[in-house]
Amino acid sequence: MGKNRTAVIIGAGIGGITTAVYLAKKGYSVSIYEKNSSPGGRCGQLIHEGHRFDLGATMLMMPGIYHEVFDSLGIELKEGSDIIRLRDLYTIFFDDCSHLVFSSDRERMKQQLENIEPGSFEKSEEYISKGYRIFRLSIDKLIGRNFYNLFQMVNLKNVPLLFRIKAFTSHYNFARRFFKHPHLLMAYTFQNIYVGQSAFDAPALFSMVPAAELSEGSFFPSGGGMFRIVEKMLNAAEKEGVQFNYSAPVKQVIITGKKAEGIILEDGTRIKSDIIVANADLPYVYRNLLPDKKKSIHLDKLKYSCSAICFHWGLDKVYPQLDHHNVFLTDGFREGLDRIFRNKSVSENPCFYVHAPVRSDREAAPANNDTISVAVATGHIDKNYKQDWDKIIERTRRAVIDRLKRQGLEDIEHHIKFEICHSPEDWENACNISRGSVFGSLGHNIFQMGYFRPHNRHDKYKNLYFTGGSTHPGNGIPNVLLSAKLVSERIFKETIAEE
Ligand SMILES: Cc1cc2nc3c(=O)[nH]c(=O)nc-3n(C[C@H](O)[C@H](O)[C@H](O)COP(=O)(O)OP(=O)(O)OC[C@H]3O[C@@H](n4cnc5c(N)ncnc54)[C@H](O)[C@@H]3O)c2cc1C
Repeated sequence: MGKNRTAVIIGAGIGGITTAVYLAKKGYSVSIYEKNSSPGGRCGQLIHEGHRFDLGATMLMMPGIYHEVFDSLGIELKEGSDIIRLRDLYTIFFDDCSHLVFSSDRERMKQQLENIEPGSFEKSEEYISKGYRIFRLSIDKLIGRNFYNLFQMVNLKNVPLLFRIKAFTSHYNFARRFFKHPHLLMAYTFQNIYVGQSAFDAPALFSMVPAAELSEGSFFPSGGGMFRIVEKMLNAAEKEGVQFNYSAPVKQVIITGKKAEGIILEDGTRIKSDIIVANADLPYVYRNLLPDKKKSIHLDKLKYSCSAICFHWGLDKVYPQLDHHNVFLTDGFREGLDRIFRNKSVSENPCFYVHAPVRSDREAAPANNDTISVAVATGHIDKNYKQDWDKIIERTRRAVIDRLKRQGLEDIEHHIKFEICHSPEDWENACNISRGSVFGSLGHNIFQMGYFRPHNRHDKYKNLYFTGGSTHPGNGIPNVLLSAKLVSERIFKETIAEE
């Protein structure tokens, strides 16, 4: 089908590489142009002084989607060897220093939940079963399919469906039907931050995230963390003959009439191609690489996900108080989210996440050392809310360290050998993510999902396609893998129609 056809992909994120494998397998001659010197984008890796850090994604959840995509490409992803099931998903620490381990061990969950709120185990089971039903339904009807026209999404048959997937109820309000204790309300809704939104604004559709986590479990790619997923895809791409060009930023997409003819690199090189797939952030591509600015102005008015400050620490001590994945939730949960989403800043007492992979992977740090990454959700860059990011970073670092000290890591400050920090501005510069909105970049309310999310093909230039977190279906590695599958299906369908 794609014999003698060429495809250029802009960006070697997981979305770009996966799309390349799909296209190459159908006979396309595929070349990827990546601005950075290494692949992975927001699923990249950094190794420093023997410490190995996942720069963005750290959790492998929704394994079924990984299997679906890997199987369809003939790439092996074996549970037990390639990916290891974690006994527990994560430990949630509360402000009063109590904790709750989210585990797929039901007995353990029962004991912990009943201690916090009598009757809550049964409620949790109900919440998970409802959320998991929403997950399956969403995969079939919303997330796992292409929308070629508006009526496939908006029709009389789908109206009850939108109610069934809880598209119009806020996630936090939905959780209130099940739990009363503030710790449980936070524990079952904070996951909205994975897609860069507040549990108070996001639809209850996202109850599917904790439900999928608790139903299907959480995994760790052995021998290297999430970057192993990128490496597996890279190997498959190289086997299929995909050409990788690093440190090769694309400056422009060449447009003639209604066709994208090719690309121009920063150094002036022109490359012609039959189709072009942009894995780079979609609003950035419309704004910076394409001539027509009308759509870009429209995209600018949409809602964007939040950003993150990340601290990567190499420590000369191991702290047994930490689990592999740790979530610190604070009492001012709502105020904290409002500071992020309304003030585009971060609270003085923020919630945060700590990745401590040495617990599952000894090789992630030198012997008796620890490798720790802290991610704090923050407001995205907004010209109407100018922030002094250096000051915010200093204040946030202090707050994180103070909180860790209260959890028993008293001397942590003295054991940080080195620190690498990524601010919202760093994210924007490193991967060309609009506003540093690393979880999307566009938000995931129902009016920015499905057919309403910017499409995976340009409306006017019909051989210019999009893949990755900023197009359909959305952010997070499972969604991005699906986006690669869906855009490839679309390309194949439209190629057959042309032939
Ligand atoms: C802090 C953080 C934590 C996360 N945690 C998780 C998690 O635990 N689990 C999970 O599933 N997901 C997680 N995610 C989300 C996940 O990392 C992303 O959804 C995913 O990596 C996005 O992949 P992508 O291919 O869409 O985009 P990207 O990774 O952004 O790839 C796009 C690529 O395009 C390149 N590019 C941009 N402009 C140009 C240009 N002009 N020329 C050439 N190349 C260009 C960029 O450099 C980049 O390499 C996390 C994200 C962050 C930031």
